[in-house]
Amino acid sequence: MDGLDRELSLAEELVGAPLEAARRLRDGWRAGEPGDLHWDNQSVEVFTAEISMARFEYHSASFRPCLFDPYHESADARALWRPEAGAPRPVACCAADAALLRDGKPPSVRLVPDLKGMVPLWEGASVHARWLLGHHAATGTGHVWDAFRGTPLGHDLNRIRTA
Ligand SMILES: [Zn+2]
Repeated sequence: MDGLDRELSLAEELVGAPLEAARRLRDGWRAGEPGDLHWDNQSVEVFTAEISMARFEYHSASFRPCLFDPYHESADARALWRPEAGAPRPVACCAADAALLRDGKPPSVRLVPDLKGMVPLWEGASVHARWLLGHHAATGTGHVWDAFRGTPLGHDLNRIRTA
């Protein structure tokens, strides 16, 4: 919730106006129980989609969110990424992550809260799958499904796609 609050502030700072639809969702979550977000996580996708649309207006038309963190530079590079349990696959990511992957290092992935503490996005739960889909809403989610297959996040993405 704190993280989502911060994202909303950043987006509003960028556009210089309140994002009313996203605020309404945020206010609804605040009024409920902290665990509600995990049950009703489709609203998280709508929330980050609102943010992604607002941010998109302020980026160049060619901006694409980095697979590993939508707040990185534009995903103008391609690289091979191999998750812990999965085959290598080409991914679209920012130049910095592509350089890390080429050097055999892990990408600078966004960390998300989990029962175990902070974990890489690809180990996230269904709420993080929703979060990610919303962030790619403005530019297309097609590549997101394939990129995370074989990871815990990919499992949740798949469940959402086939629901
Ligand atoms: Zn990146």
